[in-house]
Amino acid sequence: MPNAQPTRYSIVPKHPEAHLFEVTCRVDDPDPHGQRFALPAWIPGSYLIRDFARNVVALRAQSGQRPVSITKLDKHTWIAAPVQRPLTVTLQVYAWDLSVRGAHLDTSHAFFNGASVFPRALGREALPCEIEILPPRGARYRGWEVATAMLRKRAPPRGFGLYRAASYDELIDHPVEMGRFASATFEALGVRHEVAVTGRHDADLERLCADLRRLCESHMRLFGEPAPINRYVFLVTAVGEGYGGLEHRASTALLCSRQDLPRAAMERASEGYQTFLGLCSHEYFHTWNVKRIKPAAFTPYDLERENYTRLLWAFEGVTSYYDDLQLVRAGLISESDYLEILARSITSLLRTGGRMKQTVEEASFDAWIKYYRPDENSPNAQVSYYLKGSLIALCLDLLIRKRTRGRRSLDDVMRALWDRYGRAGLGVPEDGIEKLAARTAGASLRAFFDKALRSTDDLPLKRLLATVGIGIQLRQAQSSADRGGKPVNAGAAKTSARVSLGVRAAEDPMGAKLTHVLDAGAAQAAGLSAGDVIVAVDGLKVGAKNLDQRLARHRPGDVATLHAFRRDELLEIRVELRASPLDTCTLTVIAADRAGANRRRAWLQPRS
Ligand SMILES: [Zn+2]
Repeated sequence: MPNAQPTRYSIVPKHPEAHLFEVTCRVDDPDPHGQRFALPAWIPGSYLIRDFARNVVALRAQSGQRPVSITKLDKHTWIAAPVQRPLTVTLQVYAWDLSVRGAHLDTSHAFFNGASVFPRALGREALPCEIEILPPRGARYRGWEVATAMLRKRAPPRGFGLYRAASYDELIDHPVEMGRFASATFEALGVRHEVAVTGRHDADLERLCADLRRLCESHMRLFGEPAPINRYVFLVTAVGEGYGGLEHRASTALLCSRQDLPRAAMERASEGYQTFLGLCSHEYFHTWNVKRIKPAAFTPYDLERENYTRLLWAFEGVTSYYDDLQLVRAGLISESDYLEILARSITSLLRTGGRMKQTVEEASFDAWIKYYRPDENSPNAQVSYYLKGSLIALCLDLLIRKRTRGRRSLDDVMRALWDRYGRAGLGVPEDGIEKLAARTAGASLRAFFDKALRSTDDLPLKRLLATVGIGIQLRQAQSSADRGGKPVNAGAAKTSARVSLGVRAAEDPMGAKLTHVLDAGAAQAAGLSAGDVIVAVDGLKVGAKNLDQRLARHRPGDVATLHAFRRDELLEIRVELRASPLDTCTLTVIAADRAGANRRRAWLQPRS
């Protein structure tokens, strides 16, 4: 279609109070055999079939003023009767999903991902699109603005009007926020960055911009200038309690807890703010790793069905490794903050029994039915490709540094991936990362990868961390709130006689509700199950908060009497308590090792 017209879209928050967008898609030269339209089954970056068509509450077609019949072919595809003149479909789309993956609309703001609202006109995916973004009607919406990385065609900065995209793929890769948000801008190595924060908050945006600037520059330098973006937008939604992010080619949508945003006069980054910076870092790193360096399986995305790859350990895991590492390299957190974060990751992996059942390649492949659909048995049966993938990346980095006597590192592998695949727009074959890593290391890494990716053996963390002068200590958890990372006082550490039930519990009006019962734990052996609500221990009422405290009076081998409800039946269960596992990690610098100190400096020291 050499002279084909762009596909023309419009979107308006038509009834914010009813959470309804009205979307139109106009095709000037429709398929003479009947134009098909389809909504994606999933959104790239989030590997779950979401069937966005389920939110379409009405759809009609017309040509000029004449209605055109339109028929549904399957769960997300429609075909209009053949017409010779421009054809428009109009959809009412329900938007009440406050996540980074869908669309959300009320009288205070509007947010959407194109994948959840814009139908694609089949056969025209490669053609340019024009998008008219319209404000809701009424005085209460006066002052609303637009934040998006989509290119403006005829619209003022941050304004409603006409936008454009080079293809459907680009159209759905620019989420849009509308409303009265707080905004700020900064430049990083000459590239304009914008931050838009929606929701009630009192964040110190000046501090945030200063920190993000250092972070973004650090990522840009890692991959090499120029960065593949002319502009970048952080779309942040602050809520009471929330966490999530989704990467896009020139922006990211983030959901965070408002207390994690920086406060005025905050000096050292709080733990919450470190978490938020880690999230920003993660999504920004994706600008290269997964948005441009992407698996061949995603080149192009098939939006109709699951796209399988065994490489999510690299696209999510390597990104998770660099997200925190770059915070210390950008000088935003200290080396000891970083070691604490790393120790918490190791703790989290050690507490996942599923690491002994599922490999990270299997976890990647099955993301669609497992990682994104967790249940009460997930910790026993699955391993996170984010978590284990990040620790595989750490091991790989330290291994390459060791093999090359510090001349090369994982940074070189990332740059090689960028040069060979990202820049060239080629998909990474399933064995592409292993091959480039081996070439960078100048040696076969087959044995390492076979173990790390394709077996459930534990990673050689202790041996490899020792090469950078870091020692691992394992101890018992001091409480269910102990996530590891922090040393405990010597007296507490020596009390190795703490007991554990082997459960995870949540507060319930009646007591402690078991969300997970872990394999090989005392509770499982005694017959307790997920969903049971423990109401008493040794005849005394308990909740999730004081369950630890009640049990702490016991020694391993003691028998405790528990009362619990399963559905409406009261059970009395005798549990033989077991010693808490040594699954809580702290990392410490081994003082005497000078070679290790040098290698550690090369690995962590701030880059200018
Ligand atoms: Zn990610």
